[in-house]
Amino acid sequence: MKRRQQPNLIPRQTDQPNRCALCQREVMHITRHHLIPRAEGGKEVVDLCVPCHRTLHSFFSNRTLLNELHTLDSLRQEPEIARYLEWIRKQPDRSIRVARRKDKR
Ligand SMILES: [Zn+2]
Ligand SMILES: [Zn+2]
Repeated sequence: MKRRQQPNLIPRQTDQPNRCALCQREVMHITRHHLIPRAEGGKEVVDLCVPCHRTLHSFFSNRTLLNELHTLDSLRQEPEIARYLEWIRKQPDRSIRVARRKDKR
């Protein structure tokens, strides 16, 4: 019996913002997605934010990703993804920004 492969959704935290390859938002946590699943020998990876990555693997099986959605263009054109992207682009990575005062008391 073949074990189901779980995607690696543990983000790496970086000091610099990273641009998600799918939604194009700049985020501090980034994950790695194999356009062709590792189990199929895929080597091409893209950087995805956590919500995008999670969405891909909850909407589609590895088989669908492999057969139909193995390029960024095909992902962006997929109707469900396109709808998701429209929504996520309006969501900030961090909702609160702390203003820094120059004249500290
Ligand atoms: Zn994203
Ligand atoms: Zn993935």
